Amino acid sequence: SNSPLGNSVIPIVNKLQDIFAQLGSQSTIELPQVAVVGSQSSGKSSVLEALVGRDFLPRGSEICTRRPLVLQLLQTKRNADGTDEEYGEFLHVPGKRFYDFSDIRREIQAETEREAGGNKGVTDKQIRLKIFSPNVLDITLVDLPGITKVPVGDQPSDIEARIRTMIMSYIKIPSCLILAVTAANSDLANSDALQIAGNADPDGLRTIGVVTKLDIMDRGTDARNLLLGKVIPLRLGYIGVVNRSQEDIMLNRSIKDALIAEEKFFRSRPVYNGLADRCGIPQLAKKLNQILVQHIKAVLPGLKSRISSALVSVAKEHASYGEITESKAGQGALLLNILSKYSEAFSTMVEGKNEEMSTT
Ligand code: GDP
Ligand code: MG
Repeated sequence: SNSPLGNSVIPIVNKLQDIFAQLGSQSTIELPQVAVVGSQSSGKSSVLEALVGRDFLPRGSEICTRRPLVLQLLQTKRNADGTDEEYGEFLHVPGKRFYDFSDIRREIQAETEREAGGNKGVTDKQIRLKIFSPNVLDITLVDLPGITKVPVGDQPSDIEARIRTMIMSYIKIPSCLILAVTAANSDLANSDALQIAGNADPDGLRTIGVVTKLDIMDRGTDARNLLLGKVIPLRLGYIGVVNRSQEDIMLNRSIKDALIAEEKFFRSRPVYNGLADRCGIPQLAKKLNQILVQHIKAVLPGLKSRISSALVSVAKEHASYGEITESKAGQGALLLNILSKYSEAFSTMVEGKNEEMSTT
């Protein structure tokens, strides 16, 4: 798989999804949404892109993300010959498949301008994009405009308040995971990301701190204490990352190369030795995966009872109509059986996983 986010949760979600597909039911597992928040140009879009493993978001030194982008990742089956087919579809361009991811970026830019104008305007009207790929798990990521203080271009004088309200409308949802992105070359104590995440999630139960731009910190400084939570403690902790610079973007450097460069960066800096679990996009993906696994574990009992009651109503239907629904009832019973067994196995596996993780 080439999507860092897909690696460990896909098999688990797959099995469950298969069970529900057999039931012909909508009651699939709804994974929590993940939203990125932070100041403008802190690297939010870059982080999302690296997690997905594809280039398709507008990024840059000026304001690029000017409308919320709701990015639904949808897992598809691999082709019979083993090749991958990945494409995007926009809600506002029904029926058109975008196979070229640079076309996706161009369409996001064009659609941003259609609604928010060409002069830095910002609007809360969403762009909705689905990405179909065998390498992703079914999750929704939300890329949000960054917090800015000084209005530029067509921005109204109350731009900061408007953007804050827009961000809050996403991250106040109790199931939303928040990636609070702060650039390492800015002051963490004044981080917009941590401040707004703290408003939405005061106990820090669903906020992961992401520190970007470790590569361009002042000489002689490093992010060690920051990543250790010694500057501002955060319950779920921090991950430090190195994304592509503006120069890398202009040189068309690939995500794959960027991930290799990131790994090399951390390996060659003794100050980050011993912090391997807090450094790099793959670690961020791992942390997100862990949280998603916990989430699945928490919702399993509810799913089981939903299937049980579906089964009861099928049985009642069966009683009133006779044989017509017999096969349906049989199927339901079989599925309940599979799910019960599966959720036991799943719990055991999760426990095993956690032990494994706590020892590393
Ligand atoms: P956003 O406004 O928060 O979405 O930020 P972007 O992802 O658009 O990034 C803003 C600018 O910062 C772009 O020019 C990126 O190339 C650059 N950038 C983002 N992350 C890093 C990083 O870790 N290191 C370096 N050197 N540049 C970065
Ligand atoms: Mg952005």
